Amino acid sequence: MAALHSHTLSQIRDLLAAKKVTAEEVVTDCIAQIRATEPSIQALLFRNDEAALNQAREMDKQGPQPGQLLWGVPILLKDVLTTKGIPTTCGSKMLKDFTPCYDAYLVARLKEHGAIILGKNNMDEFAMGSSTENSAFGPSRNPWNPDHVPGGSSGGSAASVAACQAFAAVGTDTGGSIRQPASFCGIVGLKPTYGRVSRFGLIAYGSSLDQAGPMARTVEDTALILDIIAGHDPQDSTSVNISVPDYAAALTARTDLQGIRIGMPKEYWGEGLAPEVAEACNQTIEQARRLGAEIIPVSLPHTSYAIATYYIIAMAEASSNLARFDGVRYGARDTTADDLLGMYTKSRSTGFGEEVQRRIMLGTYVLSAGYYDAYYKKAAQVRRLIRQDFLDALSQCDVLAGPACPTTAFALGENTADPLQMYLTDIFTISLNLSGLPGLSLPIGLGKDSGLPVGLQLFGSKFGETSLLQIAHVLEQHTPRLPFPQGLVDSTI
Ligand code: GLN
Repeated sequence: MAALHSHTLSQIRDLLAAKKVTAEEVVTDCIAQIRATEPSIQALLFRNDEAALNQAREMDKQGPQPGQLLWGVPILLKDVLTTKGIPTTCGSKMLKDFTPCYDAYLVARLKEHGAIILGKNNMDEFAMGSSTENSAFGPSRNPWNPDHVPGGSSGGSAASVAACQAFAAVGTDTGGSIRQPASFCGIVGLKPTYGRVSRFGLIAYGSSLDQAGPMARTVEDTALILDIIAGHDPQDSTSVNISVPDYAAALTARTDLQGIRIGMPKEYWGEGLAPEVAEACNQTIEQARRLGAEIIPVSLPHTSYAIATYYIIAMAEASSNLARFDGVRYGARDTTADDLLGMYTKSRSTGFGEEVQRRIMLGTYVLSAGYYDAYYKKAAQVRRLIRQDFLDALSQCDVLAGPACPTTAFALGENTADPLQMYLTDIFTISLNLSGLPGLSLPIGLGKDSGLPVGLQLFGSKFGETSLLQIAHVLEQHTPRLPFPQGLVDSTI
């Protein structure tokens, strides 16, 4: 039998429910895998080993509970989600001593279903970044090649899941932070429709863009997590009160792509796209055609404005959201200043890293009286046009498909000297957040030049997660499964 940690979430859940393994055995095995792999990938900011083991032992005494869909399954959480009694830092010195007194809504849901929280994942500070290199606690590394980034900002979560430290993780996506690291690490990552998953307890970066979602090794596992975390929560006024379908059960309803129309936005296949990424994506589109899908060329004409629009809106919202971290209401206080203003200034300049400070300043600038119309208001208008592009394209097809990222995982340090270069790597993911629509990155193979994972991105209609997951599931069944990253996962024991 394969090592416990290299099972899928769905397999381990069934073994646990059938009492073929105990929760203690599964947790012990994942902790051993964390010990073995952390030195190479540095994906965790907090390890909950002892509490997780105690919880597992207690649960084993009671035995599996029928209504608990994740009974005994170890999972990980991005460190931007509040966890009662477990430190939550957002990858920032500002919150280095913060232990929340409540669980995020989605964390409470996972716990109700018997999931065991194994730890908290590293991330770019306050989710601002595309590589985890902005974490105040040092970068994580890509399990496929430790000299490369795992992506970001949910890079720790993607690296952990790819290295089988846990069976799934929950990340957050403001401009691609679930899909891009999923693509770089060869796992599945889903950004749900804005409003599908409650943001209560998700420490805000860009409130109109932020959305939490599952990161797992298969589409089925992704659906199983979404089944639990999706749903209405009165504590988040943007959470939508519509029923939650059974996403995992719906997967079996489709075995081919007959009758499915897949749009290929022409702007996603041009300049800047690495040939190895284009080739892998094209092969999968060809496979979709063989499975019965009709491939339709479409256009998203405002794509070239997406980076500028996103970074104005995200920074504006960040500058407002992060105002609360002043050393008084929230955040670490610098005690060396002689007066109040000095205390604010020092707390904020020592608590926040360089990228966060850059964004607060730019965000404050675009919201200031003299520049609001020229920047923020204009960006809000262009955002509508970008959203309309998606609605028009999706009126002709069921989903859109394109690369998740222009390249495979870049090397550590490759983009750090030039923030603009780093922002440009988000070109294929950010439009979706501006539109509020759901998107998924599916691992489709290894790039023939870099040997690193490539992700195909599928974009769906509002609350269209069911068909997005179904189509991804069919493609997954007809794509050779990626091996485990070499040297990190023992799948043969
Ligand atoms: N890379 C983007 C940014 O830095 C997206 C981050 C995210 O989705 N949290 O804003």
